[in-house]
Amino acid sequence: MEECDVLIVGGGPAGSSAARRLVQGGANVLVLDKERFPRLKLCAGWITPEVVRDLEIDVESYPHRFLTFEKLHIHIKGLHLRVPCVQHSIRRIEFDAWLLERSGARVVQHTVRNIRYEGGTYIIDEAFRAPYLIGAGGTRCPVYRTFFREANPREERLQTVTLEHELEYDWKDPDCHLWFFGNGLPGYSWYVPKEDGWLNVGVGGMASRVKSSNRDIREHWSLFTSMLNRKLAAGAQYDPAGYSYFVRGKVDVPRIGNAFITGDAAGLATRDMCEGIGPAVRSGQRAAEAILRQQTYTLDDVTGASLGGGLASRMLDWAFTRGA
Ligand SMILES: Cc1cc2nc3c(=O)[nH]c(=O)nc-3n(C[C@H](O)[C@H](O)[C@H](O)COP(=O)(O)OP(=O)(O)OC[C@H]3O[C@@H](n4cnc5c(N)ncnc54)[C@H](O)[C@@H]3O)c2cc1C
Repeated sequence: MEECDVLIVGGGPAGSSAARRLVQGGANVLVLDKERFPRLKLCAGWITPEVVRDLEIDVESYPHRFLTFEKLHIHIKGLHLRVPCVQHSIRRIEFDAWLLERSGARVVQHTVRNIRYEGGTYIIDEAFRAPYLIGAGGTRCPVYRTFFREANPREERLQTVTLEHELEYDWKDPDCHLWFFGNGLPGYSWYVPKEDGWLNVGVGGMASRVKSSNRDIREHWSLFTSMLNRKLAAGAQYDPAGYSYFVRGKVDVPRIGNAFITGDAAGLATRDMCEGIGPAVRSGQRAAEAILRQQTYTLDDVTGASLGGGLASRMLDWAFTRGA
């Protein structure tokens, strides 16, 4: 049996952020992930300046693709707004592997199946044991399923459905474009260029509302990519894949004993933009601090609104989850 101070299930942004803080604080940490990194993670890879700050990334020395947008193009019901603001894009396949390696934690490729609590320790698959456990395994996190599901049941209306593809493409427009509610989608579609000829495009919305509408997500994808073909991305060939996650609902119990849940495992993506990287990073860091400093673990400063919770945030939240 391998023993350590903290077991972290999942090496995405939540897990690697927790791991880095814990290693910096002198803890012996083991990260278990079912994938070998670098691994594919379906995600548009848009990150905010806040994420860059929280992760203390020195952009100049970041060794992979990193693109900065000076404005966002928002398309909504025929209107085209150019919103000045600084945002960034990365490729998750590169970013996550870099973050995990930078954490300095030991990483073992292992699919977590069974977790039990015995004698003050968490035992995973009879092979790993620690007095602290962090669940950072995304939507299907086994820590959530084992310990937190009853305390924090997920609300169906807060579940997203997405389709996306990241491809090598010699884009001409270097800005990020977002189309809200196009063709009746209860969500938005995106065009997110990456540095050096990569592009991520996708469509996403609230699953239950897409299901009850007259178009499924694949039809939205076809309509969206046909439009791109006529405008921003002529000739691009797609092979999209889907993934689902939850936007922020009530997380009444983020800690039980010495077990914590973070990131998508806790359903922390923002309700106005479905942004999950920032909340994953911040919650991972807060879980680590709670362990190191014997503090309460709260999600109070893990935002549930990318746009700050003002009128625009509230309108988008309402439009996504209740009605367009
Ligand atoms: C199509 C799409 C586009 C998105 N675009 C954006 C965006 O542009 N910006 C943004 O901020 N957010 C975006 N999100 C949301 C964002 O990707 C997630 O919120 C974020 O990845 C959550 O990080 P995490 O560390 O909690 O989980 P993850 O990144 O999902 O990491 C979880 C890790 O746990 C591992 N794991 C799972 N089960 C097990 C197991 N049983 N045993 C061991 N390991 C396990 C997985 O292999 C994975 O590496 C998008 C999501 C989707 C689906």
